[in-house]
This record gives sequence, structure tokens and C-alpha cells, in this order.
Amino acid sequence: MTELLIKGGTVYTEDGPLEADVLVADGVITRVEPGLALTAKGKEIDATGKYVLPGGIDVHVHSRDPGFPEKEDFGTLTAAAAAGGVTVVLDMPNTVPAVDSAGVLESKAALARSKARVDFGLWGLIRSTTTADELAGMAAAGAVGFKAYLAYSFSQSRKQVLYSPGSDDPDLEPPADYGTLARLAPAVARLGLPLAVHAEDPAILAAFQRPLLSYSDLLDSRPPEAEAVAVSAAAAVARDTGVHLHIAHLSSALGLAAAEDAVRSGTSLSLETCPQFLFLTAEDFDRVGLAMKMLPPVRTAADRDALIDGLRRGVIDMVSTDHAPHTDEEKSRPFEDAPAGSPGVQTLYLSCLQLAKSMGDVWLAPRWVSQAPAVLAGLEESKGSIASGFDADIVIVDPAARTRVRPEEMRSRQRRGALDGKEFDFAIKEVYLRGEPVTRAGKAHGRMVRPALVAR
Ligand SMILES: [Zn+2]
Repeated sequence: MTELLIKGGTVYTEDGPLEADVLVADGVITRVEPGLALTAKGKEIDATGKYVLPGGIDVHVHSRDPGFPEKEDFGTLTAAAAAGGVTVVLDMPNTVPAVDSAGVLESKAALARSKARVDFGLWGLIRSTTTADELAGMAAAGAVGFKAYLAYSFSQSRKQVLYSPGSDDPDLEPPADYGTLARLAPAVARLGLPLAVHAEDPAILAAFQRPLLSYSDLLDSRPPEAEAVAVSAAAAVARDTGVHLHIAHLSSALGLAAAEDAVRSGTSLSLETCPQFLFLTAEDFDRVGLAMKMLPPVRTAADRDALIDGLRRGVIDMVSTDHAPHTDEEKSRPFEDAPAGSPGVQTLYLSCLQLAKSMGDVWLAPRWVSQAPAVLAGLEESKGSIASGFDADIVIVDPAARTRVRPEEMRSRQRRGALDGKEFDFAIKEVYLRGEPVTRAGKAHGRMVRPALVAR
């Protein structure tokens, strides 16, 4: 048996912060209380003056692997995650081939396992043609849930998910629509997994389509009404099926209002928003440049403030990143040709600590980036808290040191991000995955996480 003892820190527990030591044996937390000592051979860490937090769980990342390893792969993704205190990433299914069957999910899992420096989970894709049997197969193979893209289609020949409203490309299947959700929600509910939705209504997007020559064109092409309508419709379809609906990358005040209405009328719903929507507004584009070309777009100050307020009120459950890197070459093209998406996983935890501090309660951050995501992913019995029996996924944070976001310190292939230059009043000192330090080590010892409750 090997032990790890973290002495003297302020520990985040489900009941709040606690001055305590944390004892870990063979990768699992065994005791959390003051005055502990090693009971076997092992290492002792002094965390006096530091925060001892549960590892981050980013429920929304795009590894690009397999398919676009020049943009990112599981190695660079998880190196960035580890450096940022994120010890579990949940990867979206729009890799190539798209994760739409048990077989594809299993081969992607094997690929990820060979490179992952932190733990990972895999979302399955809902296409317009997906069947309940295919969902059951993906669940048995370990899917953490299913994702439906209401405004994106599955392309037969390129086998990837592409933006589709207004497209007359015969190669594109019809996108998953509200009919697909209505047809499959009962099956997803029976499996006990969440149904995640990219909530933008394709009819509204089609009506606002235009050449995207500038940031204001981008904003005009993705009105918040598209988000609000999709949230409401998906919630109406889901409500009486008992499925748990999860709204990806919530970006607008209108979308938030629609989600709150849905919760009030009885839909089981969770919400994620992303740091770009909490730290930036459209006005920042001139300063930030193409790293800020992301979809949904960063909108107005009123949208930002509504989302911050949603987090403060606990209506928005969690913060994810929609980490979606591209190559530097792609991100230096003219505005209309540069692809949307940017990295984010490495700055998730620090940015949330900063936001939580500005709200007067730094302990909100581990709730947004660890505890609530663990519940969504069905991992609440092993991850998301520092308590006896939990995996020793632990981040030690120094609240007396500062971090400035610098592209040269980013581990993703795309180094320039939307939060470059931001300063945070915290620094990540050490990150443990099941008791092993991962901050600097290059070892791939990430495992695939599987939800605890498949099949009701
Ligand atoms: Zn995404």
C-alpha cells in the first residue's frame, strides 16, 4: 500500500470548507480530519495556507481525436486539463468517425486510453436515424450520456457533424430534430443517462443566415431567440418522459429565462455555461481577435450579467468550457474563413475560482466545476468531492499567488485562447489523479469513467 498525506490545507467537502488533513491510500481518500499521520510508506505534502479541492470535471470538451489530430488529440487535451486542475474530461461525440455506435465508442475509448493523462468519459451521438438499440449499445459500452445537435447534421461521406441550416448539400442527413428527441427521450430515460442538447433552433438560424464577414454578422446570425426556442421545445418534449435534459453552453439571458420556465413547469434540467460567456462581451472582440470566434457567440453585457446571476442563484448548475481548438493557421485566416472554437480547459478552474471570489464565496467554484458535473456524469459516488471512499483526484491551489494566462504556457495545440492576458488571484500548485501527481508528469494513466447507474 502507498499513502499520500496532504497536511494542513483548507479542504473542500460537500458540507463546505474544513481545516483538515487528507489521507489517501492506493489512490482512494480514506480519511479527512485534522491531526492525521501516515500509517504506511508514502509521501507527506504540506498544504498550509492552500486550498485542497476536488479535481475539475469538464463535461464539454472536443478532443478532435480521432479525426483532426492536427487541431488537438487526447494527449494534448489531457495535458492541458491536468495543468489546469481538471482530472476528468467528457469528450463530445463529433469526432471522426462520429460516436454513434457501441463499436465506434469502444475504439475511441481504446485510443483515448493510450494517451490520456487524466480520466475521460465519452458522450454518444444522437443522429436523426439513431435507434433505441444503438443507444442501449452505447450505454453498455460506457457512454456518459447522449448529445443531440439540433442545428448540425451528420455528413455521410466525411462522417462528421456539420452546421446545416439552409444547406442544400445532398450529402448531409437531416439533423436530429425535436421529433428525434421525442422519439428517443423515453429510451434515454430508461437507460438513466442524460440527454444533452446543443440548443439552437435551426429554423431561426436559417432565417438569420448571412455572410459572416465580421463579429457583428456572427452575432446577428445566431440570435438568442434560437437558443430560447430550442431550450423550450426540447424541455417540452422531455418533460413527461422522465429523461434528464442537459443544455450545453448556455449563452444568453433569453435562453436562461426559457430554461427557468422549463424547470418551473417540471422538466428535469441542468444547465452549463462557459467562462467565455462569463468573462467577455462582444465588445472584447477587437482586443481578443479570432480566439473569440466561438459558437454560440459571446454576446452582450446584459447576457453576461444574466448568466453570472444564474450561477449565483444556483439556477445554472455548472461551468464547462466547450474546449474546441483549431490549428494556428486556421485561426489566423480572414474572419469568414476561420473556424469557430477555441481552447479553454486549462483555464476553467482558475477562472471559476476568480468568479466565485468576486461573488464573495470562493467555494462555489468546486461546486460548478466538480460536484455538479460529477452528478451529471453519474460519478457522484467516486468523484466531485473530497471525502472517504472517493478517488483522490485533488487540486492544491495557492490563494496567495497569481496566474496570468499566457499562450506560451498553454498545453493545447491552439495556444491562443479567448482569456489570454487575464489575471487570476490563484495558482494551481499540484494536481493528483487517483493519488498520482499529474501536473508535470507525461504519463498516460487516465482511465475511462463510466456512470454508476446505467439501466433503471
Ligand atoms: Zn461543443
